[in-house]
Amino acid sequence: MTRTTQQLLADRARLMGPNVSTFYEEPVHFVRGEGVWLWDSEGRKYLDCYNNVPHVGHCNPRVVEAICRQAGTLNTHTRYLHDGILDYIERLTATMDPSLDTAILTCTGSEANDIALRMAEAVTGKRGIIATDATYHGNTSLVSQLSKSNIPTVGFGLGQYFRFVDAPDSYRHPNPDGAIFAAHVAEQIERLIEDGTGFAALVVCPYFLNEGFPDIPDGWLKPIADVVRKAGGLLICDEVQSGFGRTGTHLWAHEKMGVVPDIMVLGKPMANGHPVGGVVANRDIVAAFRKGYRYFNTFGGNPVSCAAAMAVLEEIEAQDLQANAKRVGDHARKRMTTLAAKYDIIGDVRGSGLIFGAELVKEHTNKTPASNMTDRVINAMRSRGIIHSKLGRHKNTLKIRPPMPFSIENADLLFDTLDDVLSEVTR
Ligand code: PMP
Repeated sequence: MTRTTQQLLADRARLMGPNVSTFYEEPVHFVRGEGVWLWDSEGRKYLDCYNNVPHVGHCNPRVVEAICRQAGTLNTHTRYLHDGILDYIERLTATMDPSLDTAILTCTGSEANDIALRMAEAVTGKRGIIATDATYHGNTSLVSQLSKSNIPTVGFGLGQYFRFVDAPDSYRHPNPDGAIFAAHVAEQIERLIEDGTGFAALVVCPYFLNEGFPDIPDGWLKPIADVVRKAGGLLICDEVQSGFGRTGTHLWAHEKMGVVPDIMVLGKPMANGHPVGGVVANRDIVAAFRKGYRYFNTFGGNPVSCAAAMAVLEEIEAQDLQANAKRVGDHARKRMTTLAAKYDIIGDVRGSGLIFGAELVKEHTNKTPASNMTDRVINAMRSRGIIHSKLGRHKNTLKIRPPMPFSIENADLLFDTLDDVLSEVTR
């Protein structure tokens, strides 16, 4: 059955319930993808500057072949012995600090964060979790409490265990000081201890990606990790968005920020769209969790998922995609800086590798977010065949996070179009 856009919208509301969100004033109906390109149902081609899940490109042949081969051979679960999961974890952990040597595979980033928090409880015997104020770590009862801006009105009373600190904002508070952030974390740790909750962990995206990827110098998280460990807590780095070479300079953003987490959480790009997430930690931490919770995940770590995830690692290496992210990201940042000199609406240019963007403001002196204008830009780009979005505390930061094979030529098309759109919307 092929529906029109109007029929699709009506049937979504009828069959999926109300309030299922879509992107854009005119939602898009994609029917095919290849590399960095997407096609809609009318055959129109779009440059994908948004999707990080198809990390090595939409319908990447190596991943498709790996999935098909394994799906045509065997798919079961981790209660049977299989090489696939072991080969994958061995190859994945070989890219990390030797202390991160053991993994649990899940189907989503939410499940992986949920496990990470429970690991921290199992190890410390405490439940107090500190997170940043404008982040997102997932949708389970436990981790949905971490989205301070959108805390659910229900949630089994779990909100009592969470405390928040402001994420760094390099635009409004230039040169954010890691020591000040560490002091805020220390303050919240004190409160958790005083009220009897106790401190279990700090959870952060090491590149603060959902918060608008502030410009912070490499090594920035070091004093924060020291405070956390001195208090007997664990550092959880949620690398669901920042990992697998996205920042261009490092495979893992925690390396860029100068720390080794106790627990690392993975998801989204891990298997190029096949649902795979994971938690990586030291064997003792994993053992404490497994002892505390008799954990089993029916689909997590199944042979097909592992084949897909392995193909992603192979492709990143074979195509040198981290180096590509650095090269194209550097070019993109230069082009965005050139646009910033031309258009007053661009208040700040940020990013590293293939996560980059600009904060749009009404005027430079008071830095008031131009949130409505940001929506206009995104919709105008979509109507010109360029797909991207927005994020950050004020939802006024252009979020550009394409599949990793994104080229200089793709970046030039994006910025030539953005130039046209900005001249139109600011006219
Ligand atoms: N952590 C971060 C940083 C995320 O951005 C997301 C998803 N946007 C999640 C966790 C949750 O992942 P999933 O949707 O796979 O559960």
